Amino acid sequence: MIRPILKYGAPELEKESLPVTDFNDQLRQLAQDMLETMYAAPGIGLAAPQIGINLRLIVIDLSSGEEKGSQIVMANPQILHQEGIQKGEEGCLSIPSFTAIVERPLKVRVEGQDLEGRRMQIDAEGLLSRAFCHEIDHIDGILYLERISPLKREMIKRKIKKLMKAGEW
Ligand SMILES: [Zn+2]
Repeated sequence: MIRPILKYGAPELEKESLPVTDFNDQLRQLAQDMLETMYAAPGIGLAAPQIGINLRLIVIDLSSGEEKGSQIVMANPQILHQEGIQKGEEGCLSIPSFTAIVERPLKVRVEGQDLEGRRMQIDAEGLLSRAFCHEIDHIDGILYLERISPLKREMIKRKIKKLMKAGEW
């Protein structure tokens, strides 16, 4: 089921999410809904708080559903190790129609659990590293706006406020 994606301003987006402890059918359904919602958007990553569920669950697919096998679903992801720096344009499904340059690690090693609760580890580089960092930030209640220059942040926030007032957000 495609769920509505919360936008900047929703309190769920700025809360720290709780760890996943029950690897049951409900969790599998949530992951399925998150994938469908991400593909429909379309996007390359989504975190549970973006659909109003404050649980540490993320989905990523750099091909946005075009390639089989590029789908990643991870519960309780953590960055074990990071290396290097990359600067690049970043957007967020919860902050539609805006982008900004965000600095991220070039490489990360991420550990988490699959939907059965089994440990998994992924070495990510480039865009995949960026996607993991962005989604892990979401479950910590952090939006990329907190990682850009104050000037750019204020500019985006001001424009969003205008859109909110006009009822267009
Ligand atoms: Zn996002």
